[in-house]
Formats: sequence, structure tokens, C-alpha cells
Amino acid sequence: MRYTGESLESFANAVLRGFGCDQNEADIVANHLILANSTGHDSHGIGMLPMYGAQVRDGNLICNQTPVFHDPVGAITVVDAKCGFGHRMALIALDRAMQTMDEHRVAVLGLRNSGHVSRVGTYSEYCASKGFVSIHMVNVVGHPPLVAPFGARAAGFSTNPISMAMPVDGQAKPLLDIATSTVAFGKIRVASNKGEKVPLGYLVDNEGVPTTDPDPMANSREGALSAFGDYKGSGLGMFVELLAGALASDDTVATKEHIPEGVYNNMFSVIIDPAGFDSKDQVAKRTLEFYDYIKSKPAAKGVDEVLMPGEPEKISKADRDKNGIPVDDETMRQIFETADMFNVDEQQLRERLVNA
Ligand code: NAD
Repeated sequence: MRYTGESLESFANAVLRGFGCDQNEADIVANHLILANSTGHDSHGIGMLPMYGAQVRDGNLICNQTPVFHDPVGAITVVDAKCGFGHRMALIALDRAMQTMDEHRVAVLGLRNSGHVSRVGTYSEYCASKGFVSIHMVNVVGHPPLVAPFGARAAGFSTNPISMAMPVDGQAKPLLDIATSTVAFGKIRVASNKGEKVPLGYLVDNEGVPTTDPDPMANSREGALSAFGDYKGSGLGMFVELLAGALASDDTVATKEHIPEGVYNNMFSVIIDPAGFDSKDQVAKRTLEFYDYIKSKPAAKGVDEVLMPGEPEKISKADRDKNGIPVDDETMRQIFETADMFNVDEQQLRERLVNA
């Protein structure tokens, strides 16, 4: 079933209000989730609502939280999100960190103890909208790791994403936004919900052998995701863990006790004003020059066009803005079940949904 993005956002908003988010927080989170769906990242779209609801119910994700700001040290800012909704906490933390921009032309942020920040590319887009280059690295704590280190049969760290972007006319161009696993865990959940297999290379079973069956991993965390690029992606994932967890925060996956349990993110961000190096226009000009240069390369046999990072998301958004966002029945069922836990009226929720 495809729904209009506007109606899905209103639907998600009502569910979040039911959780206890105030209107501002519900607006930010719903907008974030629908943008993830419309850019093609269903793994980080409204399908996250059941997990958020369970965390709120258990008191492990706090609605309308007030973050704690540590005193800045030079260009370094640390923000403790105190288990608040990560989508809002990350934006507040970035705004706070960017206060060092005028003096230093750079801001380095350690966001700690945050609820799930979801699609990390959102934060590159946010920084680019203010004319800044940015790099964000996120580790995941509070639950068992998901990704097998290269050569291991057991998971050792999580999907540890990285996002970076250049700013061109207020847009993130190009925008790289990747998990360091071959795919994000949510894509395994989505495949399992749809009853589909996953390509070989996404997962290993509990003996470390590649498998195409998403169900054991999605339902009972048996096996592990594979890091992309063998030992290279595995090593990169470990450094995301170290920069986000050991340096910018106080919590890596190896920190034995994490209370409360759930899905928490720490984010290490470096935000750079291009004007610290050259005029912003010159940096944007060289970026576009390189962008067009890569785009001009002849496509490989069987490939229509060389795409830059960020382009598949734009293509998906154009399609889904026009033709609606597909949401599978199982994901919808889980969201209604979660909403029901918070006594959100099902009929009123359904009335918000408009088929595309
Ligand atoms: P993915 O494998 O779809 O890769 C996405 C990136 O690759 C994008 O930058 C995209 O533009 C680029 N890309 C895709 N196809 C391309 C092509 N043909 N040519 C050029 N570039 C191409 O995504 P993923 O790694 O599964 O990550 C999905 C999302 O999950 C991301 O938004 C990430 O931030 C998020 N995530 C979040 C967490 C968390 O804990 N908050 C953890 C893991 C992942």
C-alpha cells in the first residue's frame, strides 16, 4: 500500500503525540522519519515507531527531554541527551556546538547517551543548509552488537554509520550516508516483514557462514550482519566505535553495563566552515567541478548512469513525492499495535492515512 507522504507524516505525528512527545518534538521526529522513507531508507522511517514506543513504555526513551550541556573546551562541545529522542537532541546539540563556529571556524561535537538519531544524513543536510561541511560518526550501545568483526562468528560492534557532505547552495552535495555494515539492521527487519530473502553478503549465520535468510537475525538476533568491504569496513566500523564511543562519549559496546537497555547512539561530529580554508564560493565551485567530472565518466556495462552519493535518495524522493510511500502491512500492524499500548484511537489514526 502506498500512502501520501503528507498523510504518513500526520499519522506518525499522532502516534508520537500518543507516546507523550510535545508538538515540537512530534513534528521533528515525524518529519525525520518520513524524510527517511521518502529518500528510500525505509529501515529508518516510520517502521522505527514500534521500537521507540517500546522504549518509551519501558522508561528508556524520554519524551521532551532537556539535554545537559558541558562547558565547551575550545571548539569541542559535549552534550548529554539523557535518553531523549535523538532526532531532536542531535539538532539541539549541533546548534549548540556550532556556536564555536565564529571563533574557530570548526565545531567538534560529542553527543552522548542519545535516543536513536536514525538517519544520520539528516545531520549532514542540516549542517550543509547552514553552509558547513560535516562528518558524523555514530556508535550504538545499550543492546547486543550486530556486526561480526572480520573473521569472527559473533557480533562485536554495531552498524556504526558515517555521514558526510559538502555544502553547495545550502544543499548537501554530494551526501554520503552509510552504515559500516553491508546494510543497516532495519533493512533485515524490512526484508523479514516482507517475507523476502536478502542478498548473500549481508548476513552470516551463527557459525559465521553467509546466509540469505533474514528471519533468525530479525526475530531472535541469531547470526550477525557483515561489515562492508571485509576487513576494511570492519576496521572502519571499529574506528567509528572508538571516535563516537571512546573519544566523544564514555560508552563503547565493550562497556559492560549500560543502564537502561535499549538502542542508544553516541555521535561524534566535526563541522567545518569552508571559509576557514578559502572563499565558500571557491570551495563550492571545486566541489561542483569534481561532481560533474565524476558524472561525466562513462557508465559501466549494464549501468544507466554514474550516480553520486546522495543521488539515489533524490531519485527516490522525487518518485515517492509523486507516487506515494510504500509501507508493508506488517509494519503498519506493528505501529497500530504500539499506538494501542498508548491508547491512541485506531479510527482517528486510520483517518489520517491517504492512499497515494
Ligand atoms: P545504503 O546501503 O543504501 O547506502 C546509502 C549511501 O550510498 C547513500 O549515500 C547513497 O547515496 C549511496 N549510494 C547508494 N547507491 C548508490 C549508487 N548506485 N551510486 C552511488 N552512491 C550510491 O544505506 P545503509 O548503509 O544501509 O544506511 C541506511 C541508513 O541507515 C543511513 O541513513 C544511515 O544513517 C542509517 N543508519 C543509522 C544507524 C543509527 O544507529 N542511527 C545505524 C546504521 C545505519
